[in-house]
Amino acid sequence: MKLMRVGEIGQEKPAMLDADGKIRDLSGHVSDIAGASISPEGLAKLAAIDPKTLPELQPGRIGACVAGTGKFICIGLNFSDHAAETGAAVPPEPVIFMKATSAIIGPNDNVLIPRGSEKTDWEVELGVVIGKTAKYVSEADALDYVAGYCVSHDVSERAFQTERAGQWTKGKSCDTFGPIGPWLVTKDEIADPQNLGMWLKVNGETMQNGSSKTMVYGVAFVVSYLSQFMSLHPGDVISTGTPPGVGMGMKPPRFLRAGDVVQLGIEGLGTQKQTFQADF
Ligand code: ZN
Repeated sequence: MKLMRVGEIGQEKPAMLDADGKIRDLSGHVSDIAGASISPEGLAKLAAIDPKTLPELQPGRIGACVAGTGKFICIGLNFSDHAAETGAAVPPEPVIFMKATSAIIGPNDNVLIPRGSEKTDWEVELGVVIGKTAKYVSEADALDYVAGYCVSHDVSERAFQTERAGQWTKGKSCDTFGPIGPWLVTKDEIADPQNLGMWLKVNGETMQNGSSKTMVYGVAFVVSYLSQFMSLHPGDVISTGTPPGVGMGMKPPRFLRAGDVVQLGIEGLGTQKQTFQADF
């Protein structure tokens, strides 16, 4: 299933995309794409619905593909070829950092370049949406706790991230720096999360063209690993790292300016398109 949320900010209705690409209203069945509705039992109930029996919604703004996200956890330097372009070694254990959940926006919403930013950068990432509370889970069982996957754009301000004091969080958490969606694609539709093409273009020019094949710590490992340190809850999102081709790795480095248009996508998970604008 491709689950989604459609409507203006704060008024999104839960919906699913049917086989013909029509948007079908799920609000008669669940209050949102969140919490119990994305548990294994909740997803089984949604899967039993014939989409043709659901009212059709007109295409409009698409919201973030999941609501009620308590944690937005990112994995840094998780692609061997991306670590190399940043000049960093592949870390001996996953680097984890948090992106503020207030950064979450819809996949095609405008992204705001924060005040004082000169180094706003792009990162296409595979997002993992948790469907069931995970604590101390093994790698073998980890995917049982995953509801599905989405495209995640880990927008980053490199000066805030690495040239100012402290951790990466302040370069990753600016308002609008977390587009997720368009869909939460349930895991039954993704045969192998470690073999998905991933791409990103700026103003039509391809910048990233990679694959989740070069991910160092795969989805099952990461879910298991994180669950040793904190419980993961339904609706939590893990952004699993980016392939090479980010602006800071270019010679000379290249960053986003107001008016730039970024398009990105992952095989089977849909595409996003954002216009960048100054945050006055
Ligand atoms: Zn990232």
